[in-house]
Amino acid sequence: MLKDKTAIITGSTSGIGLAIARSLAKAGAHIVVNGLGDPVQIDKECQNLSALSGSKVVYDPADMTQPAQIAQMVHKTHQNWGRVDIIVNNAGIQFVSPVEDFPPEKWDAILAINLSSAFHTIRTAVPYMKSAGGGRIINLASAHALVASPYKSAYVAAKHGMAGLTKSIALEVAQHNITCNAICPGYVKTALVDNQITQTAQARGLSEEDVIKNVILGAQPTKKFTTVEQIGALCVFLCSDSADNITGTMLPIDGGWTAQ
Ligand code: NAD
Repeated sequence: MLKDKTAIITGSTSGIGLAIARSLAKAGAHIVVNGLGDPVQIDKECQNLSALSGSKVVYDPADMTQPAQIAQMVHKTHQNWGRVDIIVNNAGIQFVSPVEDFPPEKWDAILAINLSSAFHTIRTAVPYMKSAGGGRIINLASAHALVASPYKSAYVAAKHGMAGLTKSIALEVAQHNITCNAICPGYVKTALVDNQITQTAQARGLSEEDVIKNVILGAQPTKKFTTVEQIGALCVFLCSDSADNITGTMLPIDGGWTAQ
């Protein structure tokens, strides 16, 4: 379905981003993998991705706090493959703390990686998409783009910012056959959530078991985690022709969390 399309997925060396890379590769897209991690492990994942449907897979180490490296990654993709069809802005980090103890450098890092990096991929990719006659931009936001939780001031601010960015870009590119949507997952069991269980337990004075039962799954009426594969499948749908009139949306995949 996505044969000969190219996709850049930021933060795709683990978790949700890696699952999106798998889903898009299975659908035939050529993939730019990006993110931090052990080079040997990343190389192995790139080979695994390529084996899924024979698509081309390259790794780009651009640091999502560095605007010049982000722009360079997009330009390089166009130079190498002649097109930039799909951008998935997925890289993200989390930090949980009461605001009075929140380290300013963590605030800056979360805003840079979770929000500003998306601005930089989009501003660089849109001219290529316009000249090619179309494209797809998918922003990994969060249920926290729609509702807040305490102790996550930077994350909630960045994700609400991602919602605004998504809507504004969708309007700007609406007549260029480019869609821009945000996926808003509830809790997904990845390294990002595993780490915040400990931090949330400390911030709220709870045990880690209580955090999983009452804070994490407590937010989701289905009492189920969203899976990385479900998010990958939603991305493939958003890249399909059937989704070409879906734009500017916040798509919750959160077990009913934000319906409450
Ligand atoms: P994860 O920690 O498994 O993956 C994060 C990815 O971002 C990794 O590949 C990491 O290397 C990359 N990354 C971090 N800093 C980077 C940097 N400076 N430059 C380049 N890459 C960098 O986490 P995840 O749960 O898969 O999260 C992926 C996205 O989904 C994030 O934007 C997150 O906010 C969002 N999200 C996650 C959940 C959840 O419950 N896990 C829920 C809603 C939204």
